[in-house]
Amino acid sequence: MQKGHTGTVGRMEQSSVRVGVLGCGNVGAALVNLIAERRDEVARRTGLDLVVAAVAVRNVALDRDVTIDPSVFTADPGSLVVDPDIDVVVEVMGGMEPARELIIEALRSGKPVVTANKELLANHGAELYEIAGAAGVDILFEAAVAGAIPIMRPLRESLAGEPIRRVMGIVNGTTNFILTRMAEDGASFADALAEAQSLGYAERDPTADIEGYDAGAKAAIIATLAFGARVVAGDVYHEGISGVTEADIEFAAHLGHCIKPIAVAERREPADGGPAEIGVRVHPALVPLSHPLAAVRDSFNAVFIEGDAVGELMFYGRGAGGRPTASAVFGDLIDASGNLRRGHGAPICALERARIAPIGELESAYYLNVEVDDQPGVLAQVAAVFGDHGVSIRSMEQEGLGAGARLVFITHAARESDLQATLHGLRRLGAVRSIGSVLRVVGD
Ligand code: NAP
Repeated sequence: MQKGHTGTVGRMEQSSVRVGVLGCGNVGAALVNLIAERRDEVARRTGLDLVVAAVAVRNVALDRDVTIDPSVFTADPGSLVVDPDIDVVVEVMGGMEPARELIIEALRSGKPVVTANKELLANHGAELYEIAGAAGVDILFEAAVAGAIPIMRPLRESLAGEPIRRVMGIVNGTTNFILTRMAEDGASFADALAEAQSLGYAERDPTADIEGYDAGAKAAIIATLAFGARVVAGDVYHEGISGVTEADIEFAAHLGHCIKPIAVAERREPADGGPAEIGVRVHPALVPLSHPLAAVRDSFNAVFIEGDAVGELMFYGRGAGGRPTASAVFGDLIDASGNLRRGHGAPICALERARIAPIGELESAYYLNVEVDDQPGVLAQVAAVFGDHGVSIRSMEQEGLGAGARLVFITHAARESDLQATLHGLRRLGAVRSIGSVLRVVGD
Protein backbone atom coordinates (compact mmCIF):
# COMPACT_ATOMS: atom_id res chain seq x y z
CA MET A 1 0.00 0.00 0.00
CA GLN A 2 1.32 3.40 -0.93
CA LYS A 3 1.17 6.29 1.48
CA GLY A 4 1.23 9.94 0.53
CA HIS A 5 -0.27 13.31 1.27
CA THR A 6 -2.82 15.22 -0.72
CA GLY A 7 -3.40 18.88 -0.12
CA THR A 8 -7.17 18.75 -0.58
CA VAL A 9 -8.33 16.66 2.32
CA GLY A 10 -7.19 18.39 5.45
CA ARG A 11 -4.44 17.03 7.63
CA MET A 12 -5.34 13.34 7.65
CA GLU A 13 -2.60 11.18 6.17
CA GLN A 14 -3.84 9.58 2.96
CA SER A 15 -3.30 5.93 2.09
CA SER A 16 -3.68 5.09 -1.53
CA VAL A 17 -5.43 1.71 -1.94
CA ARG A 18 -5.22 0.08 -5.35
CA VAL A 19 -8.32 -1.98 -6.03
CA GLY A 20 -8.59 -4.86 -8.51
CA VAL A 21 -12.15 -5.72 -9.57
CA LEU A 22 -13.09 -9.11 -11.03
CA GLY A 23 -16.18 -8.50 -13.21
CA CYS A 24 -17.80 -5.37 -14.57
CA GLY A 25 -21.45 -6.36 -15.05
CA ASN A 26 -24.46 -5.04 -13.11
CA VAL A 27 -22.66 -4.83 -9.78
CA GLY A 28 -19.06 -4.28 -10.97
CA ALA A 29 -19.93 -1.35 -13.24
CA ALA A 30 -22.03 0.31 -10.51
CA LEU A 31 -19.17 -0.19 -8.04
CA VAL A 32 -16.54 1.31 -10.34
CA ASN A 33 -18.77 4.36 -10.84
CA LEU A 34 -19.53 4.68 -7.10
CA ILE A 35 -15.83 4.60 -6.26
CA ALA A 36 -15.17 7.37 -8.79
CA GLU A 37 -18.12 9.47 -7.56
CA ARG A 38 -17.31 9.10 -3.88
CA ARG A 39 -13.50 9.04 -3.98
CA ASP A 40 -12.88 12.48 -2.47
CA GLU A 41 -15.56 12.14 0.18
CA VAL A 42 -14.31 8.71 1.25
CA ALA A 43 -10.75 10.01 1.37
CA ARG A 44 -11.85 12.93 3.55
CA ARG A 45 -13.78 10.71 5.93
CA THR A 46 -11.51 7.67 6.14
CA GLY A 47 -8.10 8.72 4.90
CA LEU A 48 -8.31 6.02 2.20
CA ASP A 49 -7.77 7.07 -1.39
CA LEU A 50 -9.41 4.22 -3.32
CA VAL A 51 -8.27 3.84 -6.92
CA VAL A 52 -9.56 1.20 -9.32
CA ALA A 53 -6.30 -0.02 -10.84
CA ALA A 54 -7.51 -3.06 -12.79
CA VAL A 55 -10.82 -4.59 -13.88
CA ALA A 56 -10.98 -8.14 -15.24
CA VAL A 57 -13.76 -9.02 -17.70
CA ARG A 58 -14.33 -11.62 -20.38
CA ASN A 59 -14.71 -9.16 -23.23
CA VAL A 60 -12.34 -6.19 -22.97
CA ALA A 61 -13.62 -4.71 -26.24
CA LEU A 62 -17.14 -4.19 -24.92
CA ASP A 63 -18.22 -0.56 -24.54
CA ARG A 64 -19.23 -0.17 -20.87
CA ASP A 65 -21.03 2.64 -19.13
CA VAL A 66 -18.26 3.30 -16.61
CA THR A 67 -16.26 6.39 -15.72
CA ILE A 68 -12.85 4.78 -15.83
CA ASP A 69 -9.75 4.75 -18.03
CA PRO A 70 -10.27 1.90 -20.55
CA SER A 71 -6.64 0.85 -20.14
CA VAL A 72 -7.44 -0.71 -16.72
CA PHE A 73 -9.48 -3.51 -18.36
CA THR A 74 -7.83 -6.91 -18.64
CA ALA A 75 -8.97 -10.35 -19.74
CA ASP A 76 -6.45 -11.96 -17.38
CA PRO A 77 -8.00 -12.21 -13.90
CA GLY A 78 -5.29 -14.70 -12.84
CA SER A 79 -2.58 -12.03 -13.15
CA LEU A 80 -4.72 -9.39 -11.44
CA VAL A 81 -5.10 -11.39 -8.21
CA VAL A 82 -1.34 -11.91 -7.78
CA ASP A 83 -0.25 -8.47 -9.03
CA PRO A 84 1.84 -6.90 -6.23
CA ASP A 85 0.49 -3.48 -7.24
CA ILE A 86 -3.07 -4.50 -6.30
CA ASP A 87 -3.90 -4.11 -2.60
CA VAL A 88 -7.50 -5.35 -2.40
CA VAL A 89 -9.54 -7.61 -4.70
CA VAL A 90 -13.30 -7.33 -5.28
CA GLU A 91 -14.96 -10.40 -6.84
CA VAL A 92 -18.21 -9.57 -8.64
CA MET A 93 -17.95 -11.99 -11.54
CA GLY A 94 -20.20 -14.66 -9.98
CA GLY A 95 -20.23 -18.46 -10.44
CA MET A 96 -18.11 -21.10 -8.73
CA GLU A 97 -15.03 -21.31 -10.93
CA PRO A 98 -12.81 -19.51 -11.67
CA ALA A 99 -14.13 -17.22 -8.88
CA ARG A 100 -13.13 -19.71 -6.13
CA GLU A 101 -9.58 -20.21 -7.40
CA LEU A 102 -9.08 -16.50 -7.99
CA ILE A 103 -10.24 -15.61 -4.46
CA ILE A 104 -7.93 -18.24 -2.98
CA GLU A 105 -4.98 -16.89 -5.00
CA ALA A 106 -5.74 -13.34 -3.89
CA LEU A 107 -6.01 -14.33 -0.20
CA ARG A 108 -2.80 -16.37 -0.36
CA SER A 109 -1.10 -13.33 -1.89
CA GLY A 110 -2.08 -11.38 1.24
CA LYS A 111 -4.88 -9.38 -0.39
CA PRO A 112 -8.21 -8.88 1.39
CA VAL A 113 -11.15 -9.96 -0.73
CA VAL A 114 -14.67 -8.54 -0.96
CA THR A 115 -17.22 -10.70 -2.74
CA ALA A 116 -20.95 -10.68 -3.51
CA ASN A 117 -20.95 -14.34 -4.54
CA LYS A 118 -23.61 -16.16 -2.45
CA GLU A 119 -23.41 -19.35 -4.49
CA LEU A 120 -19.69 -19.69 -3.86
CA LEU A 121 -19.87 -18.81 -0.16
CA ALA A 122 -22.80 -21.15 0.48
CA ASN A 123 -20.78 -24.05 -0.94
CA HIS A 124 -17.14 -23.21 -0.18
CA GLY A 125 -17.37 -20.52 2.50
CA ALA A 126 -15.59 -22.49 5.25
CA GLU A 127 -12.58 -23.18 2.99
CA LEU A 128 -12.31 -19.51 2.03
CA TYR A 129 -12.68 -18.25 5.63
CA GLU A 130 -9.92 -20.64 6.74
CA ILE A 131 -7.55 -19.47 4.02
CA ALA A 132 -8.30 -15.83 4.82
CA GLY A 133 -7.72 -16.51 8.53
CA ALA A 134 -4.37 -18.21 7.82
CA ALA A 135 -3.31 -15.27 5.64
CA GLY A 136 -4.53 -12.76 8.27
CA VAL A 137 -6.62 -10.82 5.76
CA ASP A 138 -10.32 -10.09 5.43
CA ILE A 139 -12.90 -11.83 3.35
CA LEU A 140 -16.05 -9.69 3.50
CA PHE A 141 -19.36 -10.39 1.78
CA GLU A 142 -22.10 -8.04 2.92
CA ALA A 143 -23.64 -7.95 -0.56
CA ALA A 144 -24.00 -11.74 -0.84
CA VAL A 145 -27.15 -11.76 1.32
CA ALA A 146 -30.02 -9.32 0.90
CA GLY A 147 -28.07 -6.96 -1.40
CA ALA A 148 -27.90 -3.49 0.10
CA ILE A 149 -29.15 -4.46 3.57
CA PRO A 150 -26.41 -4.48 6.21
CA ILE A 151 -26.91 -7.87 7.81
CA MET A 152 -23.59 -9.74 7.63
CA ARG A 153 -21.71 -7.12 9.67
CA PRO A 154 -24.41 -6.91 12.39
CA LEU A 155 -24.36 -10.72 12.68
CA ARG A 156 -20.54 -10.86 12.77
CA GLU A 157 -19.90 -7.84 14.95
CA SER A 158 -22.81 -6.10 16.67
CA LEU A 159 -24.54 -9.37 17.63
CA ALA A 160 -21.37 -11.41 18.26
CA GLY A 161 -22.26 -11.74 21.95
CA GLU A 162 -25.93 -12.44 21.36
CA PRO A 163 -27.25 -16.01 21.52
CA ILE A 164 -29.41 -15.86 18.41
CA ARG A 165 -32.33 -18.27 18.45
CA ARG A 166 -33.80 -17.70 15.05
CA VAL A 167 -33.39 -15.64 11.91
CA MET A 168 -36.30 -15.33 9.48
CA GLY A 169 -35.93 -13.50 6.24
CA ILE A 170 -37.46 -12.54 2.96
CA VAL A 171 -34.23 -12.81 1.01
CA ASN A 172 -35.44 -13.31 -2.55
CA GLY A 173 -36.99 -10.24 -4.14
CA THR A 174 -38.33 -12.05 -7.21
CA THR A 175 -40.56 -14.43 -5.28
CA ASN A 176 -41.68 -11.67 -2.92
CA PHE A 177 -42.65 -9.59 -5.94
CA ILE A 178 -44.63 -12.49 -7.46
CA LEU A 179 -46.54 -13.27 -4.26
CA THR A 180 -47.24 -9.56 -3.71
CA ARG A 181 -48.72 -9.20 -7.22
CA MET A 182 -50.83 -12.33 -6.68
CA ALA A 183 -52.14 -11.00 -3.35
CA GLU A 184 -52.65 -7.37 -4.25
CA ASP A 185 -53.70 -7.51 -7.93
CA GLY A 186 -55.19 -11.00 -8.10
CA ALA A 187 -52.57 -11.94 -10.71
CA SER A 188 -52.02 -15.60 -11.51
CA PHE A 189 -48.61 -17.10 -10.74
CA ALA A 190 -47.76 -17.21 -14.46
CA ASP A 191 -48.72 -13.55 -15.05
CA ALA A 192 -46.87 -12.35 -11.96
CA LEU A 193 -43.77 -14.27 -13.06
CA ALA A 194 -43.99 -12.78 -16.56
CA GLU A 195 -44.23 -9.29 -15.04
CA ALA A 196 -41.19 -9.98 -12.82
CA GLN A 197 -39.28 -11.07 -15.92
CA SER A 198 -40.32 -8.02 -17.93
CA LEU A 199 -39.14 -5.74 -15.08
CA GLY A 200 -35.78 -7.52 -14.94
CA TYR A 201 -36.40 -8.99 -11.45
CA ALA A 202 -36.52 -12.58 -12.68
CA GLU A 203 -34.08 -14.38 -14.99
CA ARG A 204 -35.31 -15.96 -18.20
CA ASP A 205 -34.80 -19.28 -16.43
CA PRO A 206 -36.33 -18.41 -13.03
CA THR A 207 -35.73 -21.83 -11.41
CA ALA A 208 -33.13 -20.64 -8.88
CA ASP A 209 -35.54 -18.05 -7.51
CA ILE A 210 -38.85 -19.91 -7.83
CA GLU A 211 -37.60 -23.20 -6.41
CA GLY A 212 -35.79 -21.57 -3.49
CA TYR A 213 -32.15 -22.31 -4.42
CA ASP A 214 -31.15 -18.64 -4.35
CA ALA A 215 -32.80 -18.08 -0.96
CA GLY A 216 -31.34 -21.39 0.25
CA ALA A 217 -27.78 -20.23 -0.47
CA LYS A 218 -28.44 -17.01 1.44
CA ALA A 219 -30.04 -18.93 4.33
CA ALA A 220 -26.90 -21.11 4.60
CA ILE A 221 -24.69 -18.01 4.83
CA ILE A 222 -27.02 -16.41 7.40
CA ALA A 223 -27.01 -19.58 9.52
CA THR A 224 -23.21 -19.80 9.34
CA LEU A 225 -22.76 -16.29 10.71
CA ALA A 226 -25.72 -16.27 13.11
CA PHE A 227 -24.71 -19.53 14.80
CA GLY A 228 -20.95 -19.65 14.11
CA ALA A 229 -21.46 -23.06 12.54
CA ARG A 230 -20.65 -24.73 9.27
CA VAL A 231 -23.82 -24.72 7.16
CA VAL A 232 -23.74 -25.27 3.40
CA ALA A 233 -26.38 -24.90 0.68
CA GLY A 234 -26.94 -28.68 0.66
CA ASP A 235 -28.04 -28.52 4.33
CA VAL A 236 -31.00 -26.28 3.52
CA TYR A 237 -34.43 -27.78 2.95
CA HIS A 238 -36.28 -25.87 0.25
CA GLU A 239 -39.72 -25.73 -1.28
CA GLY A 240 -40.60 -23.37 -4.12
CA ILE A 241 -43.54 -21.00 -4.44
CA SER A 242 -45.04 -22.37 -7.66
CA GLY A 243 -47.61 -24.46 -5.74
CA VAL A 244 -49.15 -21.42 -4.00
CA THR A 245 -52.61 -20.83 -5.47
CA GLU A 246 -54.79 -17.76 -5.65
CA ALA A 247 -57.24 -19.63 -3.37
CA ASP A 248 -54.49 -20.09 -0.73
CA ILE A 249 -53.79 -16.38 -0.81
CA GLU A 250 -57.50 -15.63 -0.33
CA PHE A 251 -57.83 -18.10 2.54
CA ALA A 252 -54.70 -16.75 4.16
CA ALA A 253 -56.09 -13.20 3.97
CA HIS A 254 -59.39 -14.39 5.43
CA LEU A 255 -57.43 -15.91 8.33
CA GLY A 256 -55.49 -12.65 8.88
CA HIS A 257 -52.30 -13.78 7.14
CA CYS A 258 -50.36 -13.14 3.95
CA ILE A 259 -48.11 -15.62 2.13
CA LYS A 260 -44.42 -14.76 1.91
CA PRO A 261 -41.28 -16.54 0.65
CA ILE A 262 -39.54 -17.20 3.96
CA ALA A 263 -36.08 -18.44 4.89
CA VAL A 264 -35.74 -19.70 8.46
CA ALA A 265 -32.53 -20.55 10.32
CA GLU A 266 -32.99 -21.86 13.87
CA ARG A 267 -30.70 -23.18 16.55
CA ARG A 268 -31.81 -25.56 19.30
CA GLU A 269 -29.96 -26.74 22.37
CA PRO A 270 -31.23 -30.30 22.93
CA ALA A 271 -32.61 -30.98 26.41
CA ASP A 272 -30.13 -33.89 26.87
CA GLY A 273 -27.18 -31.47 26.62
CA GLY A 274 -26.02 -32.93 23.28
CA PRO A 275 -24.52 -30.83 20.50
CA ALA A 276 -26.49 -27.86 19.22
CA GLU A 277 -28.85 -28.52 16.35
CA ILE A 278 -29.47 -26.22 13.46
CA GLY A 279 -32.43 -26.28 11.10
CA VAL A 280 -32.45 -24.23 7.91
CA ARG A 281 -35.37 -24.15 5.51
CA VAL A 282 -36.82 -22.05 2.72
CA HIS A 283 -40.49 -22.23 1.74
CA PRO A 284 -43.58 -20.12 1.26
CA ALA A 285 -45.31 -19.51 4.59
CA LEU A 286 -48.34 -17.81 6.07
CA VAL A 287 -47.26 -14.78 8.09
CA PRO A 288 -49.71 -12.94 10.37
CA LEU A 289 -50.56 -9.50 8.99
CA SER A 290 -49.43 -8.04 12.32
CA HIS A 291 -45.86 -9.40 11.89
CA PRO A 292 -43.23 -6.93 10.59
CA LEU A 293 -42.33 -9.30 7.71
CA ALA A 294 -45.92 -9.00 6.39
CA ALA A 295 -45.21 -5.36 5.50
CA VAL A 296 -42.27 -6.31 3.23
CA ARG A 297 -43.82 -6.00 -0.23
CA ASP A 298 -42.79 -6.12 -3.89
CA SER A 299 -39.13 -6.92 -4.46
CA PHE A 300 -37.98 -5.66 -1.04
CA ASN A 301 -36.06 -7.90 1.35
CA ALA A 302 -35.95 -8.03 5.14
CA VAL A 303 -34.22 -10.06 7.81
CA PHE A 304 -35.87 -10.55 11.22
CA ILE A 305 -33.64 -11.68 14.09
CA GLU A 306 -34.72 -13.10 17.44
CA GLY A 307 -32.13 -13.14 20.20
CA ASP A 308 -32.08 -13.68 23.94
CA ALA A 309 -31.03 -10.26 25.15
CA VAL A 310 -31.67 -8.17 22.07
CA GLY A 311 -35.25 -9.33 21.57
CA GLU A 312 -36.43 -8.78 18.00
CA LEU A 313 -34.64 -6.80 15.28
CA MET A 314 -35.58 -6.25 11.66
CA PHE A 315 -33.39 -5.06 8.78
CA TYR A 316 -35.21 -3.92 5.64
CA GLY A 317 -34.26 -2.67 2.18
CA ARG A 318 -33.36 -3.43 -1.42
CA GLY A 319 -32.14 -6.98 -1.85
CA ALA A 320 -30.73 -6.61 -5.36
CA GLY A 321 -29.98 -4.22 -8.18
CA GLY A 322 -26.59 -3.07 -9.42
CA ARG A 323 -26.27 0.16 -7.46
CA PRO A 324 -27.78 -0.94 -4.11
CA THR A 325 -25.62 -4.09 -4.20
CA ALA A 326 -22.55 -2.09 -5.19
CA SER A 327 -23.16 0.15 -2.17
CA ALA A 328 -22.81 -2.87 0.14
CA VAL A 329 -19.65 -3.99 -1.72
CA PHE A 330 -18.26 -0.48 -1.40
CA GLY A 331 -18.80 -0.46 2.38
CA ASP A 332 -16.89 -3.74 2.66
CA LEU A 333 -14.15 -2.40 0.43
CA ILE A 334 -13.63 0.60 2.71
CA ASP A 335 -13.66 -1.69 5.76
CA ALA A 336 -11.18 -4.17 4.26
CA SER A 337 -8.91 -1.34 3.10
CA GLY A 338 -8.97 0.26 6.55
CA ASN A 339 -8.11 -3.06 8.20
CA LEU A 340 -5.30 -3.59 5.71
CA ARG A 341 -3.93 -0.16 6.51
CA ARG A 342 -4.11 -0.93 10.23
CA GLY A 343 -2.29 -4.19 9.57
CA HIS A 344 -4.92 -6.65 10.78
CA GLY A 345 -7.88 -8.42 9.25
CA ALA A 346 -11.03 -9.46 11.10
CA PRO A 347 -11.15 -13.20 10.47
CA ILE A 348 -14.25 -15.32 10.86
CA CYS A 349 -13.51 -17.55 13.85
CA ALA A 350 -13.41 -21.32 13.64
CA LEU A 351 -16.85 -22.64 12.74
CA GLU A 352 -18.54 -25.19 14.99
CA ARG A 353 -19.67 -28.46 13.43
CA ALA A 354 -23.28 -28.46 14.62
CA ARG A 355 -25.78 -31.19 13.81
CA ILE A 356 -28.08 -30.21 10.96
CA ALA A 357 -31.59 -31.34 11.89
CA PRO A 358 -33.42 -33.06 9.01
CA ILE A 359 -36.72 -31.50 7.96
CA GLY A 360 -38.73 -34.32 9.60
CA GLU A 361 -37.48 -33.16 13.02
CA LEU A 362 -38.26 -29.49 12.56
CA GLU A 363 -41.35 -27.92 14.07
CA SER A 364 -43.79 -25.48 12.58
CA ALA A 365 -47.46 -24.59 12.62
CA TYR A 366 -49.24 -25.60 9.40
CA TYR A 367 -52.07 -24.45 7.17
CA LEU A 368 -53.98 -27.28 5.43
CA ASN A 369 -56.78 -27.14 2.94
CA VAL A 370 -58.79 -30.39 2.77
CA GLU A 371 -61.84 -31.21 0.64
CA VAL A 372 -64.23 -33.77 2.15
CA ASP A 373 -67.67 -35.29 1.53
CA ASP A 374 -70.30 -33.34 3.41
CA GLN A 375 -71.56 -36.20 5.60
CA PRO A 376 -72.29 -36.50 9.29
CA GLY A 377 -69.26 -37.62 11.30
CA VAL A 378 -66.61 -36.59 8.77
CA LEU A 379 -65.28 -33.78 10.91
CA ALA A 380 -64.85 -36.14 13.86
CA GLN A 381 -62.96 -38.65 11.67
CA VAL A 382 -60.65 -35.94 10.35
CA ALA A 383 -60.04 -34.50 13.83
CA ALA A 384 -59.25 -38.02 15.10
CA VAL A 385 -56.45 -38.41 12.50
CA PHE A 386 -54.85 -35.18 13.69
CA GLY A 387 -55.17 -36.37 17.30
CA ASP A 388 -53.71 -39.82 16.52
CA HIS A 389 -50.48 -38.17 15.40
CA GLY A 390 -50.28 -35.57 18.15
CA VAL A 391 -51.02 -32.64 15.85
CA SER A 392 -53.18 -30.14 17.65
CA ILE A 393 -55.64 -27.99 15.69
CA ARG A 394 -55.57 -24.29 16.48
CA SER A 395 -58.38 -23.16 14.19
CA MET A 396 -60.70 -24.59 11.56
CA GLU A 397 -62.95 -22.95 8.98
CA GLN A 398 -65.54 -24.77 6.93
CA GLU A 399 -66.92 -23.78 3.53
CA GLY A 400 -69.71 -25.59 1.69
CA LEU A 401 -68.90 -26.95 -1.79
CA GLY A 402 -72.17 -28.42 -3.11
CA ALA A 403 -72.13 -32.04 -1.92
CA GLY A 404 -68.77 -31.53 -0.30
CA ALA A 405 -67.04 -29.17 2.06
CA ARG A 406 -63.66 -27.48 2.27
CA LEU A 407 -62.00 -27.56 5.67
CA VAL A 408 -59.18 -25.11 6.28
CA PHE A 409 -57.03 -25.87 9.34
CA ILE A 410 -54.27 -24.05 11.11
CA THR A 411 -52.42 -26.27 13.56
CA HIS A 412 -50.32 -25.53 16.60
CA ALA A 413 -46.58 -26.16 16.22
CA ALA A 414 -46.02 -29.79 15.24
CA ARG A 415 -43.10 -31.91 14.08
CA GLU A 416 -42.90 -32.19 10.33
CA SER A 417 -42.83 -36.00 10.54
CA ASP A 418 -46.08 -35.97 12.59
CA LEU A 419 -47.70 -33.64 10.09
CA GLN A 420 -46.66 -35.94 7.23
CA ALA A 421 -48.13 -38.92 9.09
CA THR A 422 -51.36 -36.93 9.55
CA LEU A 423 -51.52 -36.21 5.81
CA HIS A 424 -50.98 -39.90 5.09
CA GLY A 425 -53.82 -40.78 7.50
CA LEU A 426 -56.15 -38.19 5.96
CA ARG A 427 -55.51 -39.52 2.44
CA ARG A 428 -56.64 -42.96 3.61
CA LEU A 429 -60.01 -41.67 4.84
CA GLY A 430 -62.77 -42.48 2.35
CA ALA A 431 -64.49 -39.14 3.01
CA VAL A 432 -61.41 -37.08 2.11
CA ARG A 433 -61.64 -36.10 -1.55
CA SER A 434 -58.36 -34.22 -1.84
CA ILE A 435 -55.75 -32.38 0.15
CA GLY A 436 -54.84 -29.05 -1.41
CA SER A 437 -51.98 -26.88 -0.29
CA VAL A 438 -50.08 -27.58 2.89
CA LEU A 439 -48.12 -24.51 3.94
CA ARG A 440 -46.19 -23.62 7.05
CA VAL A 441 -47.24 -20.76 9.32
CA VAL A 442 -44.49 -18.66 10.91
CA GLY A 443 -44.33 -15.65 13.19
CA ASP A 444 -47.37 -16.28 15.39
P1 NAP B 1 -23.08 -9.94 -14.41
O1 NAP B 1 -23.85 -8.72 -14.76
O2 NAP B 1 -23.32 -11.20 -15.16
O3 NAP B 1 -21.51 -9.58 -14.54
C1 NAP B 1 -20.49 -10.53 -14.46
C2 NAP B 1 -19.19 -9.86 -14.86
O4 NAP B 1 -18.11 -10.78 -14.63
C3 NAP B 1 -19.13 -9.46 -16.34
O5 NAP B 1 -18.48 -8.22 -16.48
C4 NAP B 1 -18.26 -10.57 -16.97
O6 NAP B 1 -17.47 -10.11 -18.06
C5 NAP B 1 -17.34 -10.91 -15.82
N1 NAP B 1 -16.88 -12.30 -15.89
C6 NAP B 1 -17.62 -13.42 -15.74
N2 NAP B 1 -16.84 -14.50 -15.86
C7 NAP B 1 -15.60 -14.07 -16.07
C8 NAP B 1 -14.35 -14.70 -16.28
N3 NAP B 1 -14.23 -16.03 -16.28
N4 NAP B 1 -13.24 -13.93 -16.46
C9 NAP B 1 -13.34 -12.57 -16.46
N5 NAP B 1 -14.51 -11.91 -16.25
C10 NAP B 1 -15.61 -12.65 -16.08
O7 NAP B 1 -23.26 -10.29 -12.86
P2 NAP B 1 -23.81 -9.32 -11.69
O8 NAP B 1 -25.29 -9.25 -11.74
O9 NAP B 1 -23.02 -8.07 -11.68
O10 NAP B 1 -23.47 -10.21 -10.40
C11 NAP B 1 -22.14 -10.32 -9.94
C12 NAP B 1 -22.12 -11.05 -8.60
O11 NAP B 1 -22.88 -10.29 -7.65
C13 NAP B 1 -22.75 -12.45 -8.60
O12 NAP B 1 -22.04 -13.29 -7.71
C14 NAP B 1 -24.15 -12.21 -8.08
O13 NAP B 1 -24.72 -13.36 -7.46
C15 NAP B 1 -23.88 -11.12 -7.06
N6 NAP B 1 -25.04 -10.30 -6.74
C16 NAP B 1 -25.71 -9.65 -7.74
C17 NAP B 1 -26.81 -8.88 -7.44
C18 NAP B 1 -27.55 -8.13 -8.51
O14 NAP B 1 -28.54 -7.45 -8.19
N7 NAP B 1 -27.13 -8.19 -9.76
C19 NAP B 1 -27.26 -8.79 -6.10
C20 NAP B 1 -26.55 -9.46 -5.08
C21 NAP B 1 -25.44 -10.21 -5.43
P3 NAP B 1 -18.17 -9.61 -19.44
O15 NAP B 1 -18.89 -8.33 -19.08
O16 NAP B 1 -17.03 -9.37 -20.37
O17 NAP B 1 -19.09 -10.72 -19.85
